Amino acid sequence: MTELTWIVDSATGELTVEGLSTEEAPSITDDLLPAGREVNCARPLLSPPLPRATDATGPVLRVSRIYHASVVDGPGRRSVAQVQGCPIRCRGCALPYTHDPAAGTSLSVPDVVTALLDPAGEPRDGVTVLGGEPFFQPVALLALLPELKSRRIHTVVYTGHTLEVLARRPEPEVREALELTDLLIDGPFVSSLADGAGEWRGSRNQRFIPNPGKLGPVSK
Ligand code: SF4
Repeated sequence: MTELTWIVDSATGELTVEGLSTEEAPSITDDLLPAGREVNCARPLLSPPLPRATDATGPVLRVSRIYHASVVDGPGRRSVAQVQGCPIRCRGCALPYTHDPAAGTSLSVPDVVTALLDPAGEPRDGVTVLGGEPFFQPVALLALLPELKSRRIHTVVYTGHTLEVLARRPEPEVREALELTDLLIDGPFVSSLADGAGEWRGSRNQRFIPNPGKLGPVSK
């Protein structure tokens, strides 16, 4: 049986149903709702163009795309930085275009912040950083997260590593980035565990870990 996830956007009242094709949707929603439109795995099909890269002396983040109004990448409605580069290569990954670390666009962290916090105003409950693999670029991730937290923005970070693996990484930026993360969604995508994953995650092995930097030493 197909699993359906129903998500109501608190900003617009729009209903997103995950798990239905556009052809199937009317059989369930036609009696109650106006005609639907297809979105991309509940993410916007089209992303706004990335800003032009500016000269930067600080850390640079390699980005695949930046988009707004996602209701599937953490709690509420979120602006999302999808970073470029992932060495994990989970079998069945839905985002192979994010794997190549040389693809995407290099942007200064201030440019990324500006694009995420679009001055035109997208209602948002927070910002999500996902991949690719955000901890593949720990220096830039650590430069980005303080910019968000200083604006009191709720942060979600996805990683294909487990928190236990991240806790063993030697770079201080990894630990500091975890301390600035409000919610970590960890673990690789495992296609055999995809059914029943529910909201926000791709497979059931992935965990929701609030305040991951506040945990003590993580057991191996
Ligand atoms: S960690 Fe994420 S982006 Fe990387 S291969 Fe796995 S599912 Fe794909």
